Amino acid sequence: MFVTRNTLKAIKEYFFSSLKNKYEKMELESLYLITAEEILNLNRTEIRLDKGVKLLESELLKFNSVIKGLKKDIPIQQLFGKAPFYEREFVIDENVLIPRQETEELIQLIVEKNKIDSPRILDIGTGSGAIAISLNLEINNSKVYALDVSEKALDIAKKNKELLNGKVEFLKLDILKESSSKFTEKLDLIVSNPPYVLNSEKELMLSNVLDYEPHLALFVEDANPLIFYKKIVDFALINLVEEGILYFEINEKYGEEVAGLMQNNFNKIEIIKDLNGKDRFVFGTLSS
Ligand code: GLN
Repeated sequence: MFVTRNTLKAIKEYFFSSLKNKYEKMELESLYLITAEEILNLNRTEIRLDKGVKLLESELLKFNSVIKGLKKDIPIQQLFGKAPFYEREFVIDENVLIPRQETEELIQLIVEKNKIDSPRILDIGTGSGAIAISLNLEINNSKVYALDVSEKALDIAKKNKELLNGKVEFLKLDILKESSSKFTEKLDLIVSNPPYVLNSEKELMLSNVLDYEPHLALFVEDANPLIFYKKIVDFALINLVEEGILYFEINEKYGEEVAGLMQNNFNKIEIIKDLNGKDRFVFGTLSS
């Protein structure tokens, strides 16, 4: 056996010594707490205090398999099949992007800005459904639709809708290929966090993202970095009501360019920074 004693103290030491070359101290601390919480069903205080916690053989084995996964750079969210987002827990797997903190900021901005009663909302490229479901649960009487090109992503999104009791209508649609006029209902809000990482930015990415998260959801060709934004702006011109709002999450490099795509037909265009001070969101209101 990899540890000879079944105390939490022993497994903690083993966890840290196995992974200390791969992760920094703070990150390791947080990975350990997440792992222990999940496997032992204890809260953080109980884990920190460790009043002589003893592990079952099955729990030791689970720890071992998480350590193995972390050594291979598998994201902790994938090891447990779930990720927190906007104070809820979403099921995830390798077919969907792990929801990011920036996208939580996007939800907060939309919820704060929304003044429409019972808005009709569409999320384009929904992945795990994190945006669509959160908006549905946060905005009273919202009617939410969500699209994705990936059937496997939609399966996860539907699972999340059921687990979280959201009301979202999911549709499989390739926004790049299908005609904008295929969508029949008029919308008050359109939101999208489309793929926006350049292929050339791959070398800057960590293995846990690059090797385990879906490239379909992340990357665009350097030659056409705004391909999704152009298509979604055209889609919005047809499908938004007058004064309807388009919300984008963007690559920090392209705030001005995305705003530029909108400037002929939208007003009140804003480029908004995320908590790290990077241009991360562009909003605009369709001119009447
Ligand atoms: N923000 C994500 C990342 O940094 C990318 C999200 C996206 O491409 N839409 O990995």
